[in-house]
Amino acid sequence: MNDGKPQVAPAVFGGTHSVVGGEGLRQRAQDQPDLERWMRQCIGLARVAKERGDPPVGCVIVRDGAVVAEGIEAGRTKGDVTCHAEVEAIRAARRLLGRADLSDCTLVTTHEPCILCSYVIRHHRIARVVLGLETGEIGGYSSALPVLADTTIKR
Ligand SMILES: [Zn+2]
Repeated sequence: MNDGKPQVAPAVFGGTHSVVGGEGLRQRAQDQPDLERWMRQCIGLARVAKERGDPPVGCVIVRDGAVVAEGIEAGRTKGDVTCHAEVEAIRAARRLLGRADLSDCTLVTTHEPCILCSYVIRHHRIARVVLGLETGEIGGYSSALPVLADTTIKR
């Protein structure tokens, strides 16, 4: 049962990360080719961000095995710190699906979602997060403020 806390699975490229939770391990084994394809798509979006002067972050949202939304980091070019790739993807998914509840979706992103994005992910009840690189002190999973993993947050 979903306790409101998304399952977080670091993407494994080169085998340096482990997957959180036994269920995550089973799921990863089943959809690893898809995860790699989605992560490659994220990396392509990150390149677009970099070319236009933003930090190289890209994100996709997947539902029923298909990408339904993309997000490209745009905080610098839009002059709005909330335009992180993950939030941009969530905005696009909300528009497409016409609802705030994204509990049937997986978010795949090149970087560990920051604290801000992590709360947005929780708010929209995204069930699963697959991340690439850890982002240190601003990370929403590996930092001292692990919003993605916090069990006291009820959404
Ligand atoms: Zn962020």
